[in-house]
Amino acid sequence: MIITLKKSTPKAEFDRLMDYLEGCNVRLNISYGDMFTVVGLVGDTTQISERKLEANEWVEHVQRVQAPYKLANRMFHPEDTIVDVGGVKIGAGEKIAIMAGPCAVESLEGLCEIAEEVKDAGASILRGGAYKPRTSPYSFQGLGYEGVMDLVEARKRTGLPTVSELMSVDKIDELAQNVDLIQIGARNMQNFDLLKAVGRINKPVMLKRGISASIEEWIMAAEYIMASGNPNVILCERGIKTFERMTRNTMDLAVIPIIKEKTHLPIVIDPSHATGDWKLIEPVALAAIAAGADGLMIEVHNHPEEALSDGSQSLKPEKFKELIVKARKVAEAVGREI
Ligand code: PEP
Ligand code: MN
Repeated sequence: MIITLKKSTPKAEFDRLMDYLEGCNVRLNISYGDMFTVVGLVGDTTQISERKLEANEWVEHVQRVQAPYKLANRMFHPEDTIVDVGGVKIGAGEKIAIMAGPCAVESLEGLCEIAEEVKDAGASILRGGAYKPRTSPYSFQGLGYEGVMDLVEARKRTGLPTVSELMSVDKIDELAQNVDLIQIGARNMQNFDLLKAVGRINKPVMLKRGISASIEEWIMAAEYIMASGNPNVILCERGIKTFERMTRNTMDLAVIPIIKEKTHLPIVIDPSHATGDWKLIEPVALAAIAAGADGLMIEVHNHPEEALSDGSQSLKPEKFKELIVKARKVAEAVGREI
């Protein structure tokens, strides 16, 4: 961190600030110029708030050199993290994980039918929402506990580990005891109480990028989970809100190499929510694999036109199967497997 102080800073104020900074366990490199005094902070500055420093009237400018996150930071943890989801390893050079299933669990039989189909096609994890964050309060809100129990039964029948969304802290035990991967949805990416709560449990967490979150805000949300004690975090890009209306959201593919450079966490891409259009799922999914994604999350429904949520961005099982065949070829081209 570099702090630029006004030349007119009174000595007492300067000494007070230097004492404060020395108390933050960093070394100070002070350079006295004609117009400004520049103080370079050497060491771990993650606990120092640049906003607080900027509130000081003698501070002209504060520039952060080091990222504000530490546990998620590749600089402090150079090797890739591998997260184990019910026996499926995600990250580093492991197989690309394919998470597939309906947007929402609608019935046990429907879920199991889809689960068998996606498993046959090559999926390794079954998705299905039981608690659904819907834009309208009049839309299907999910089956709740019954949906969670359906996921347990589908796992028993197919052997596929499951992923489902946690929306509130009061359902944390229910989800943690019954699913293999807890999803924190885009709308809750900055629900800090929820992040701290999943940080305290021993279950992997998939953190979706917030609808209008910057990459740094997203990594800081992962840092919350990790700082609370849970290192098993997977990041999931699901598109962000932009001015573009031809897609539901705008897929930000560049996050894949950026996340890999800045963090050591696995990154999964969700082309269903990113595009909102089943026709766009395949090209975006293939591009994500080419760009180095560690996994995909895809909505699949056997009757998309009758789905209770997100039918228009769900693939029919046969289309999903075709996609996986192509995805295997792209994976091979980049030295990965599915
Ligand atoms: C979902 O995956 O079911 C979901 C609601 O996704 P998102 O939080 O990305 O909108
Ligand atoms: Mn959905």
